[in-house]
Amino acid sequence: MTPAAYTVLKLDAAQHNLQKVRDCAPHAKIMAVIKGNGYGHGLLRIAEALPNVDAFAVARVDEGIRLRKAGIKNKIVVLEGFTSSQELDALLIYQLDALVHSFTQLDIFASRTARAQIAVWLKLDTGMNRLGFKAKDFHAVYQRLNECPIIKRPISLMTHLASADDKQDPMTLKQVALFNGTLQGIAGERSIANSAGILGWAEALADWVRPGIMLYGISPFPGMTGEQLGLKPILGLHSRLIAVKPIEKGETVGYACAWVCENPTTLGVVAIGYGDGYPRHAKVGTPVLVNGKRAPLVGRVSMDMITVDLKTQPDAKPGDPVTLWGEGLAVEEIAQWAGTIPYTLVCGITQRVRQIDSSWLK
Ligand SMILES: *Cc1c(COP(=O)(O)O)cnc(C)c1O
Repeated sequence: MTPAAYTVLKLDAAQHNLQKVRDCAPHAKIMAVIKGNGYGHGLLRIAEALPNVDAFAVARVDEGIRLRKAGIKNKIVVLEGFTSSQELDALLIYQLDALVHSFTQLDIFASRTARAQIAVWLKLDTGMNRLGFKAKDFHAVYQRLNECPIIKRPISLMTHLASADDKQDPMTLKQVALFNGTLQGIAGERSIANSAGILGWAEALADWVRPGIMLYGISPFPGMTGEQLGLKPILGLHSRLIAVKPIEKGETVGYACAWVCENPTTLGVVAIGYGDGYPRHAKVGTPVLVNGKRAPLVGRVSMDMITVDLKTQPDAKPGDPVTLWGEGLAVEEIAQWAGTIPYTLVCGITQRVRQIDSSWLK
């Protein structure tokens, strides 16, 4: 018996998606981005499904430590670096690479003598205005880092694209030009591209690429699905009907009586809600698959349940399977209905949702 709400992971798809990265960037080393609990898929599950990547990237030090404690030997890059001397100690102990993006970090480095050395990625801010040094400060910073005994050389170099998911936006080429121009004559490996950069901008491929969302089979481009890009989604979100009932014209459904029944129909109650990570803002009409066939969401999403209109399958019964997204229903489509991006849907799946490896179902 499966739990009420569960995800099924097709982990074989990870290698297929990785191959797509290799096809797009045949000469680049691959840093698989598995922050945010592997985009909600499970940090260790995804790490173990991608043993053959050149590195993993996580956002935070504790994510890197979890990987090391689980025995992961690949290079691991911590994208947010560190903010304290204690965090730097942890990076050294667990041999995690750090992003260097702030003057505070430089001061911490300067105060250290080198017992162990740390590999670093110097981040250049080319317009994202999130982390990184401005081009005008770059050479002074590079000089200072080069003089720190704690730093392994050569220093690697990174920037992050702000608008690569929009193929019309001139921002990406501007960022690439600023990055390449600023780093002229500097040794060290370079990395620019996220998934949208890998799939859309050959100019952004450098020594290393940093695919995230595409490894999970999801499109970084609005209005496109992963399948259209030749990717295979890994994660499906599933539940089941727990009640089926007739509903009369004029009756209302759910909180705030937000949906009014205009034609008598059959209502299905599904055990999934925002407490599982199903988006609270999914609009009326958002499709779900009941017994593999589409049925529209009606009424508001509540914490543990949603309601769907079963007019096309009045014979459906409690216990019947429901897919919220997955095979036959792209997470990208659900994201559109909910006014969000697919990243937030997969990252938002909560702890109570059980994870099932598809190989267990065979
Ligand atoms: C999250 C992240 C990525 C991966 O982005 P996707 O759009 O998921 O491919 C790459 N680089 C950095 C710095 C990131 O924060």
